[in-house]
Order: sequence, then C-alpha cells, then structure tokens
Amino acid sequence: MDQERARIQEDLRGVVDGEVRCDDLFLQLYSSDASIYQIKPRAVIRPRHVQDVVATVQYASEHGIAVHARGAGSGLAGESLGSGLVIDFSHHMRRIIGFDGESVTVQPGVVYAHLNKYLAKHNRLFGPDPSTGQVTTMGSVLALDNSGSHWLRYGSARAYVEELEVVLADGTVLRLGQDNNLETLCAVPHRRGFTHFGETPTVARLDDIQQRLGTILATHHANIAEHTPKSLVHRCGYHLNNLRQGEHLNLAQLITGSEGTLALITQAKLRTVALPPHVGVLLLFFDKMEKAIQASAHAVNMDVSACDLLDRRLLILARDTDARFVQTIPSDAEAMLLVEVTADTRAEVRERLSDITEQIQKSKRLAFASRIALEQDEIAQAWSITQNVIPTLYRLKGNSRAIPFVEDIAVPPAAMPTVLPQLQEVLRKHQVTASIFGHIGHGQLHIRPFLDVNDQDDIRKLHALACELYEPVVQAQGTISGEHGAGLSRTWFMRKQFGPLYEAFAEVKRLFDPLHILNPGKVIAEMPQPIHNNLRPVTHNEQNEQNEQNEQEVIDDAPPVGPAPNTVELQLAWSHEELAYAARNCNGCARCRTEDENSRMCPIFRFAPQEEASPRAKANLVRGIITGRMPLSTINEDQFKQVVDLCVNCHQCRIECPAGVDIPRLVTEAKAQYVATNGISFSDSLFTRLDRTARWASRFSKFYNYAIANRTLRWIAQKTTGLAQGRKLPAVAKSSFLKWAEQQRLDRTSRKDGDKVVYFTDVFATWFDTNLGKAAVKTLQHNGISVYVPTEQLWSAAAAIAEGDVQYARKVAQVNVAILADAIRQGYTVVTSEPAAAMCLTQEYPALLDDDDTALVAEQTQDICHYLWNLHRRGRLELTFQPQNYQVGYHLPCHLRALQDHTPGEHLLRLIPGIRVHRIDKGCSGMAGVFGLKSQNYRNSLRSGWGLLSTMRDSEIQVGTTECSACKIQMEQGTSKPTLHPIKLLALAYNIMPELEEQLRGAARDLIVS
Ligand SMILES: Cc1cc2nc3c(=O)[nH]c(=O)nc-3n(C[C@H](O)[C@H](O)[C@H](O)COP(=O)(O)OP(=O)(O)OC[C@H]3O[C@@H](n4cnc5c(N)ncnc54)[C@H](O)[C@@H]3O)c2cc1C
Ligand code: SF4
Ligand code: SF4
Repeated sequence: MDQERARIQEDLRGVVDGEVRCDDLFLQLYSSDASIYQIKPRAVIRPRHVQDVVATVQYASEHGIAVHARGAGSGLAGESLGSGLVIDFSHHMRRIIGFDGESVTVQPGVVYAHLNKYLAKHNRLFGPDPSTGQVTTMGSVLALDNSGSHWLRYGSARAYVEELEVVLADGTVLRLGQDNNLETLCAVPHRRGFTHFGETPTVARLDDIQQRLGTILATHHANIAEHTPKSLVHRCGYHLNNLRQGEHLNLAQLITGSEGTLALITQAKLRTVALPPHVGVLLLFFDKMEKAIQASAHAVNMDVSACDLLDRRLLILARDTDARFVQTIPSDAEAMLLVEVTADTRAEVRERLSDITEQIQKSKRLAFASRIALEQDEIAQAWSITQNVIPTLYRLKGNSRAIPFVEDIAVPPAAMPTVLPQLQEVLRKHQVTASIFGHIGHGQLHIRPFLDVNDQDDIRKLHALACELYEPVVQAQGTISGEHGAGLSRTWFMRKQFGPLYEAFAEVKRLFDPLHILNPGKVIAEMPQPIHNNLRPVTHNEQNEQNEQNEQEVIDDAPPVGPAPNTVELQLAWSHEELAYAARNCNGCARCRTEDENSRMCPIFRFAPQEEASPRAKANLVRGIITGRMPLSTINEDQFKQVVDLCVNCHQCRIECPAGVDIPRLVTEAKAQYVATNGISFSDSLFTRLDRTARWASRFSKFYNYAIANRTLRWIAQKTTGLAQGRKLPAVAKSSFLKWAEQQRLDRTSRKDGDKVVYFTDVFATWFDTNLGKAAVKTLQHNGISVYVPTEQLWSAAAAIAEGDVQYARKVAQVNVAILADAIRQGYTVVTSEPAAAMCLTQEYPALLDDDDTALVAEQTQDICHYLWNLHRRGRLELTFQPQNYQVGYHLPCHLRALQDHTPGEHLLRLIPGIRVHRIDKGCSGMAGVFGLKSQNYRNSLRSGWGLLSTMRDSEIQVGTTECSACKIQMEQGTSKPTLHPIKLLALAYNIMPELEEQLRGAARDLIVS
C-alpha cells in the first residue's frame, strides 16, 4: 500500500464506523463493474450510517479526492468507477425503514428485489424494473432513474420519489421533498472533530441552491425545451424539466438520475403502486425484424404493459443454452416480441392477449407463430428469455464479446423503422456483427457489437462506431442513453447530444459540486475520457500498451506490477491461456450477487452479502494477477487466502452464471498456489485428509464415539483441531465397508455379461455409514446388477481439492482413476452414492489429470440414483416394494444439482407406495463439505442452512432424505428426525435390509407409523 493510501486508511478509520480498506487486493474488487472499464480506487468505505457518509465526503472535500457511490456495481457504463473513494452502500445501509401502506422508506443499499418481495406481502410494488433487479440497489435505481421492460406501465424511478435524504459535496445533509419544506430539513450532527452543521447554514445552503438553480433554469429555458431528447425515455444529463413546484424547485427530481454527481442519496421515501391483479404474456415470432417493429407499434396501441424485442442471434442462444426454449422458440424465427398485459380478471387477460394475437398474427399477418403464457411459471419462463439472454452472450466461444458501450440508444418509437436500418448500416460498414435486444415498445434499443477489447483494431473501432451510431439517433431527437446513464462510455458524447444545453448542466454541476469531487468524469467533465481509455485489461501489460497508443491521460494509477504470471507453474491441468480465458469470461454482470430464493447462486454470498464473498470477486482477483495489476506474490498473502476461502467449491455459480464462468476452477487453482507455497496446517489436514482421520477414528472407535458425545472432549477437540464443538457428528464404524465387501467377495470382477457396476464408496460409506454401502450393493444386486467393489480404492479427496491441497489430491486421483478405468474397460459403469465423489470423478479429476483414463472415468461415472432411475426408464427396475407409511423431506445437494438437471433420488422414492415425498427447496444446506464442521464457520453454516433446518422441524416431515453425507449431518443437527440416503429407503422398501428398519425405528421411534 502506498503512503497516500496508508494515510487515507488511517485518517478515515478514525472518523468512520464502517469499514475502510485501501489494500491492493480489496481495491481490485472494486475496480470494475459490468462495463468494459477498470479503474482502481484509492479506498473503499462501507458506511454504517449517514454520519459515515458525511465524514467521508468532508474528508474527500478537504483533501480534493473524488467520491464514487456504488451499489451492486452492475452498471454497464462504468458509472460507479473512479480513482477516488468508493462508498459501497450495499453492505450495511440495506434496511427498509418503514412502510405506511402507500409509501416506503429505504436506505440506498436495499436490493430492488428485496424491496418488492417485502411490498408484495402488502400487495404493493415499486414499478420501474431494471432487469438486474435481483441485485441492483435502490440508491442506484434512483441515481440512474432506472426503468426497464415495464416502462410502458410504470415509467421510470423519478416518478415515484417523494423524499430524498442526500449528502452534498460539502457534507451538508438535506432532506428534499416535493415542496422542499424547510421545517423537514435535517441537520445531522457530525462527530469526531468534523464541522457541525446547524440548521441555519443548512437552510441557507438550500436557499442558495434554490435561487441559483432558478437562475440557471431561467437562462437556459429555451435550450431546455429545444435540446432535451424527445424519446420517451432518456437518462443522461440532468433533468431540468418541470422542476418548479409552487414556490420551490423540486430538487429531489433533479438529484434522481444524476449518477451520484450532484449528491449522495442516503435515504429515500418512495411511492408504491398496487400489484397488478392478473398478468399474461404473449410471445410473437417473426420472419423479419421489420415486421416485429411494425407489430410493436400495433401492440403498444393496445395498452400493453411491456413490449420487448429479441433478434435472431439471441433466440438461437436462448434455444442453445436452455432446453426449455427448444419447444417454445421456433428455429426459423428472425425476431421475437414479448408482450405483457395486465387486467382485473384472468379471463380478461386471456381475451386481451387473444385480441393482440388476432391483430398481429391473423389480421395483419406480421407474426408467423405465437404462444400465450397465463400460469405463473410459464410467465416467469417467458420473461427469463429476455432477462437471461444478454449475459449469456458471454458464453459464446472466441475472444470477441458482445460488449456494452453503445448499448442504451432510445429514439421516439415512430422513428424506429427509419433509425434501425441506419444503425444496421453503420455496423455493416464497420464489418461488425451485433446482437439487438430492446424495449421496443418505448423505443429503447440495447445494441451489443461483438468486439475484442484485447485487439487494437477493435479498440480503434469503439470511438468511430459510437460516433456513427449516435449520429442518426441524435438526428431523430433520440438519446444515447435511455436507461443506463452517461458513465465513462458516454460522457465524451454529452456535448454532441445536448449542444448548448450542456453548458446549463455544467452550471448545475458547479452549483452543487464546485470542486468536482462527486463522481467526476461522469455526465460533466472538462476532459471527458475517450471511450477507449481505462479498458479493463484481460492480458498482462495490455493496459499500458493501450494507453501509450492512445496517448491519452490515464486515470488509473496502477501500472502492471512484476513479471507476467505465465512463468508460474499452474497447479491444475490447464494452460495459462485457458486460465486467462476463464477469468476474462466474467463480464462483471453481478448476477452472482443474487440472494433470490429460486436460485442456488452462491451460498456464501447469501449469508455474507459483501463483494469479496461473491463469485465475481474471485474472477476479479485472478484477473488482477494475470494482468499484472496485482503482484504475483499476492497469491501467498493471507488476505488473498481469506477471499478465496469464501468459496466452498459447491459449483452452483458455475451452472447459474449466465456466462458459464468456471469460478470453482479458478478458486481451486488460486488455493492450490497458496498451498504449494505455504503448505497445509496440521489442523486443516485433519479435514483435508479426511480418510486418514476416519481411519484413525475407526481404529479407536470406542473412544471416538464416546468423545463425540461428550461435551468436554468436544470442547477440547474444538480448541485443538478447530472442529466445531456444537456439531453433531456421525459415529464411526469399527470395521470398514470395504472389509465387509471383501468378506462378501465383491472385490473381484465378473466375466459375466449383463449390467455391471463398480461401486466407488468414498469416506462416509466406507467408515461411518457402512449400512449405506451395504444398501447400495444389495439394492443393485436385487435388480440383477453385478457389483464390484475394488478394496484398494481410495477416498475421493473432495475436501482436499476444496482446500487447494491438489498435489495430494492428484496422487489419490491417479490411484482411483487407474482402478476405475480398468474396470470400465471390462464393461463396468462407475456408480457412487456420494455426490461429492461423483463431482470429483466427473469434474475435479479432469481438472487435475489431463489423460485418457481420467476422461474415460469422467464419462462413465453416475450417481447411483441416476443409474437406477435410468434402469427404471428402461423398464428394468424391480418394483416389488413393500408399502411404507411415512412422509419424507427430500433435499437436493448442491453437487448433484450441478451434475444433472433432475432429481432421480426423489423420483425413485415416489415409486414406493405409501411414501409421501416433500421437496425441501431451501437452497444449500450450509455444510458445504467440511466447511460446516469447522468452529469458525459453524454459526454461518447454521445460518445459511436455516431454511432447510427449520423445514426439517415441520410436523409433516417424519424422515429426511438426501444423497449427500454432509447435508445429512446438517439435516440431523437441529432435530431428532433421522435423515437417510434414498438408497436406504429403497432397500427398506425392497425389504432386503431389515437391520435398517431397526436403525430407522431406533432413531425416530415415535415418528414412523408403519
Ligand atoms: C445484464 C444487465 C442488464 C441490465 N438491464 C438494465 C435495465 O433493464 N434497466 C436499467 O435501467 N439498467 C439495466 N442495467 C444496468 C444496471 O444494472 C442498472 O443501472 C442498476 O441500477 C445499477 O445498479 P447497481 O446497484 O449495480 O449500481 P452501481 O453500478 O453500483 O451504480 C450505478 C450508479 O449509481 C450511483 N449510485 C449508487 N448508489 C448511490 C447513492 N446512494 N447515491 C448516489 N448515487 C449512487 C453510482 O455512483 C453509479 O453512478 C443492466 C445491467 C446489466 C449488467
Ligand atoms: S461470475 Fe458470472 S454471474 Fe458473476 S459477475 Fe461474472 S459473469 Fe456475472
Ligand atoms: S463454487 Fe459455490 S461457494 Fe464457490 S463461489 Fe461458486 S457459488 Fe460461491
């Protein structure tokens, strides 16, 4: 950390209650967003309250340092990036303060989706809907005056602002409302040596602003009328229309949409609306884009609440990346319109959608196919096409990406048929392809040209393309930004957009922020950054080369440090290019910050919603090192380890990230680099060498089983090994399952024909729940499958891989692969009853070993339930089950979810007569392998698994079931109900393991009524 940053950190820590971080590692996390830019800030502050914001702003003002407000960092134009102090509102200031039935008061860090979830309980809604609503914060929604697909119904955020509490550039706190009532102004007492603003100077400041702003408006009256874009939406520049309300100017309306350049929002009172009673969606498919645009004009006249357009490229992508859309989207569609209507009754919704279909498809013959969605899940599925597909563009192979820099054009809808061909012509001229998506109903187009920001020729195209694309837009009195703001990519073009009105904006900026400390370089800038400066580097040194060539001033003051990291020996079986490619695939869209209950995205971010816990943070760190923005030695620092340790290798982000970024692999490489240098501590090795620990426990099983039930010994274990004292642990078996298998002569292969499996057991079935292994074998045999259990097999080493102990894990993998590949060559299929083991054999081992045998094993491995379900689908599963009579709660483990898109274990249980299966959809169990066993994670593990734990207590669930041994431990943590692997329940129902019945009854005597 340089001297300046060290001083800032020390100074600010003295006056701010929230966190202040100035170290390189942390700053790297806040250097980028969803745009193409990267700028390293000097500090990151996470304020706890308005006083922290005031203290930061005053400090910045006294020292001439810039301040940049930030929410989720999902901006597409680099709106929140800068070299000054980043204030992250999303961490502490995320409270919904009050709701009076109509208006809601929020802190700026409240996530949009959380607000609407809260309001839905009261049948209310905050209408304007950016498609990133699952992560975007309300401070940003207001700072950017966001809108989205439903602009036709709800307009933009500004219309809902009743009151704002804001901090000005000098630290003054104002409460601004519709009439700026002076009595309601708040004057916040400042602490720790900072100036105390009494009410008098606050009132004087407000009066001064009112007066001088009045003069600016009067002077520029004609320019405001003439040069404000005539598109239905427009989001760049300052809002100078209709500010006067009686005696006063409505400053809250001006601050809304000002991108954090005039004031920082610390609280907002917002109007809400009633939830629409009934909603329906219509998908219309066209063979020509022009027909879709024509159709949108008809649809808008039929009072629709949304009308979005997708082009052919996006439709193909939607079909390719989501099997559900193969049936929905005709393969020959060139364009699609998604139209939504609302009405008081369902019948009315249906009727209105039928009317639109009649008009557009039958009468005007514009669309060639259509689909109506009336059920909630169908509607959500239809919307997911438009909401998911843009970030999915990053899944396309190659170095060119659909990058955002001219992605926010809007024109008056009537001009669209003329402007769109002009835009397409510009793209053609530059030989650039682009995807086109838009809220076409209100004239908004999101164009994403495919370019490589690592290629000098493409970089040179950015400016020319923007200039030429913006030309017809401005001519048509449209706007270069309809939703996203000016940011770094559009401030350069503000003069072109606004002509003489730009001078009025500059005066407004001087009035509010004479020192230009609030988010400088956005909206107004004396020297706006050219569109190609500060591009996010994706390879080493590229930033320097770029800026030298551009001969432009570089804001970012962090040149590459040290040698290129491709001199480092990688720990996983991949090349430096593959590693760099994986890291650059993360476009920063922030989707992985979601806490949505319908998704399983990062369990760690859910209980610790802070940037470093997000999957994105890991990609940003690795990219920082690859590009030389952070020294290589960072990998060996504890701070680095702390961030990568906030990943438990659950693989949920890999499947849910729209760009398919393999974060778990990046993290494993990073952890492995740390371990290669620092080694593994003894206490960590108890977890990473779980088989060794289990073997010892089994050797002294009497003592171990006594110890885990004894409070004092558990306390000692916590102090000496880090094993959580409160964790209920499974008893160890005296003799291992593999020994039993040997006794049963399962350790030899068979030459017979027919279905044959080789059973890979892993630690839990081998040492702890040996009955699970036996149930697996007996169930398979009961179905006529020949079972082979090689007794020289080792454990999967899943915990070692998750901790980065890959050198050891590789040796284990080599042994297992040799045994299993040999069996496969003899006609065997590998099955395992442990999801983490299935993940290792199919995903993790190929990341450790690049050879044919490993690929063969990966290809031929199945989870045991998956195997049996396939058997059933072939009509080969024995269905002679004894009727059972109990209710089962099924939990799907993360690793299985990452491997397959259905739940065969649950399907199998549903075949057993009498069993009632309840699906517990509460996300991750919180155990995450051995994560939840450690004392430092114990509480967090319980917190993140709370949904599952509390559902297990429901009286209607008598027995839990899951495939994963770690999830089982968690499910049994807070209840006396047993949790069994589905295979055990099958074995019970086949009546082939009476001893299990005993076990089940013993554990839940009064629960099971047979
Ligand atoms: C795939 C994708 C789709 C998108 N779709 C839409 C869309 O449909 N509609 C739309 O409008 N946008 C859209 N966006 C852009 C972006 O997500 C939104 O603009 C969103 O509101 C940004 O929220 P955030 O919390 O991530 O803000 P950030 O990016 O963190 O910040 C955005 C701006 O708000 C300012 N700000 C944040 N908090 C405050 C505060 N408390 N006081 C003052 N200023 C503050 C910042 O300084 C910055 O200028 C999309 C982005 C992506 C990646
Ligand atoms: S990891 Fe995926 S979801 Fe997260 S920011 Fe990167 S691209 Fe978006
Ligand atoms: S693998 Fe799991 S824990 Fe790790 S970053 Fe992804 S979602 Fe989070």
